[in-house]
Amino acid sequence: MVKLPKWLKISIGSELAIDLGTATTLIYMKNKGILLDEPSVVAIDKTTGKSLAVGDEAKRMLGKTPGDIIAKRPMKDGVIADFELVQEMLHFFIKKVTKRALLTQPKVLIAVPSGITEVEARAVKDSAESAGAREVHLVSEPIAAAVGIGLPIHEATGNMVIDIGGGTTEIAVIALFGIVTNVSIRVAGDEMDEAIIDYVRRKYKLLIGEIAAERVKIEIGTAIPLKEQKEMEIKGRDLITGIPKTLRITSEEVTEALKEPLSQIIDAIKKALEKTPPELSADIIENGIYLTGGGALLKGIDKLIEKETGLNVKIAEEPRKCVVIGAGKILEDLEKYRKVLRRPKKPYEE
Ligand code: ADP
Ligand code: MG
Repeated sequence: MVKLPKWLKISIGSELAIDLGTATTLIYMKNKGILLDEPSVVAIDKTTGKSLAVGDEAKRMLGKTPGDIIAKRPMKDGVIADFELVQEMLHFFIKKVTKRALLTQPKVLIAVPSGITEVEARAVKDSAESAGAREVHLVSEPIAAAVGIGLPIHEATGNMVIDIGGGTTEIAVIALFGIVTNVSIRVAGDEMDEAIIDYVRRKYKLLIGEIAAERVKIEIGTAIPLKEQKEMEIKGRDLITGIPKTLRITSEEVTEALKEPLSQIIDAIKKALEKTPPELSADIIENGIYLTGGGALLKGIDKLIEKETGLNVKIAEEPRKCVVIGAGKILEDLEKYRKVLRRPKKPYEE
């Protein structure tokens, strides 16, 4: 018998669960765990249109790229902004985790935003297939998140999961393997960064970049005022003199800057609660609300939502990873979860 090299052996029949997020792509491999956690970014040479780097390497280029290189996010606002780039990015990531063993054609389950259209779902599937996948299934993100948290989605009890990602906040009430109520808004982590950029521009006439704004949010950002003030230095370009300038910003100022996007998120949560059938509302009062996604890591966001809704709010363990962990669990028991897989619609159903 032919002796196979080790890298080929471990990849035979590999099965992958992918969280294709607007900010981050995560890949879980059956029996191996999470093997990839990189930004959903592709750097492109503007003159040739060719991609130069993907993921971590491409994000490092964001905002610092020389004129002829642009860093693009192929997923924007939770939908596909650029089909070809998604394809390239998926191909790159799948190849990276399966090493050279693409010949083995992995089985793939991809978590996608619940609101994507049939055409977009098809495009995601095609991308994975052209990246070498043999069998591609799709599942809605909120369901994957709920499974990742460990909620009993098969029971007749309602659970509310709020995923605050980069581009979208998805609020879903899940019961009996399905999404009962779903509100999705295009306000999430990116909008928070934008709000910080706007605030600093208005107050200090200083222009800062997206990366700097995100750092401010993560390091000193808070949804509710802190007992202890924090502050940090930010660098940008003075809009009046045009000269680079450094100043200090406090956590209190960041709370002020984040007011608008946060109130939009709160409004969406209230709307979802209003749309929820009363029997399930009772369950939510009992079970509380679960937060997932990178935005759940914003300091005090759980307390703010508790204050505004009067409900108990819990941040999931490892909120950034819930969706991919859940997708992994579904992949490992496709029989049990068959009902949650996204079924292609017939043309007359659209
Ligand atoms: P997506 O599912 O859209 O890819 P993620 O769940 O990875 O998004 O979340 C990305 C968002 O979470 C980004 O806007 C990022 O800035 C934000 N984020 C990550 N860590 C933190 C943190 N500690 N505090 C606040 N926001 C955070
Ligand atoms: Mg996500």
